[in-house]
Amino acid sequence: MDGKAPSADIRRRGVMLVLSSPSGAGKSTIARSLLENDHSFEISVSVTTRPRRASEIQGVHYHFKTQREFELLRDNDDLLEWAEVHGNYYGTPRRPVEEAIAEGRDMLFDIDWQGAEQLRERMRGDIVSIFILPPSMKELLSRLTRRAEDTVETIQTRLQNARFEIEKWRDYDYVVINEDLDRAFESVRAIVQAERLRRDRRPGLFDFVADLLAEKPA
Ligand code: GDP
Ligand code: ADP
Ligand code: 5GP
Repeated sequence: MDGKAPSADIRRRGVMLVLSSPSGAGKSTIARSLLENDHSFEISVSVTTRPRRASEIQGVHYHFKTQREFELLRDNDDLLEWAEVHGNYYGTPRRPVEEAIAEGRDMLFDIDWQGAEQLRERMRGDIVSIFILPPSMKELLSRLTRRAEDTVETIQTRLQNARFEIEKWRDYDYVVINEDLDRAFESVRAIVQAERLRRDRRPGLFDFVADLLAEKPA
């Protein structure tokens, strides 16, 4: 059975999918494709003190905040996790995640390794984490430059931090090398599909199997 027909209405625990990578490896591109293709995912919109890029929309890509506003949220315990990344603060608003968990909805997180570490501690069984690697350092630099949304200094900082970030690959459940975008995306889809079929996410299976066994063969 492919998990669709009779079991489609079985309630399951949501997949909390974390994507991390060094800057420029393509995680935002992959996250965007996933949101477009799979409407059961909702993205966790982070708060950040980083300046907005020209292509970014307040409240859609990030909630852009001043340092003071960020500190207020953090001190009020409104953030599920937070970290300093490339010299700016980033954090995950707590409320939308708690609501998604309560309702069994799937949520996507584009967060760094420090955030992934904190979520794993706080939400053990629900987290599935994928690390996206670039095919080479040369290609990583070329993508960061091609994106043309950051200053030369910012690109330099991000490239310098990339080596250290890449070393965190072992902490993740899955690793996807983003050479060809379509192939990388298909790998992420396959991971999601398999995770949704996990027995421990599907408490409704107990009733399904009980009904199945109670059924009289025609
Ligand atoms: P990107 O590298 O092009 O995705 O650049 P961004 O400035 O959007 O993100 C910078 C880093 O911060 C990335 O590693 C993100 O995964 C991470 N990040 C974004 N939001 C959050 C967050 O809410 N919490 C944490 N811990 N990290 C975040
Ligand atoms: P990240 O969110 O990891 O910083 P992005 O998703 O913004 O990275 O991707 C960085 C740049 O590389 C973007 O301009 C994007 O269009 C491009 N890119 C992403 N994946 C690929 C790929 N497989 N091949 C070529 N370019 C890619
Ligand atoms: P950018 O500034 O390029 O959008 O993101 C830089 C880094 O911050 C990326 O690696 C991104 O994944 C990470 N990031 C974005 N949002 C969060 C967040 O809410 N928490 C954490 N820990 N990292 C985040």
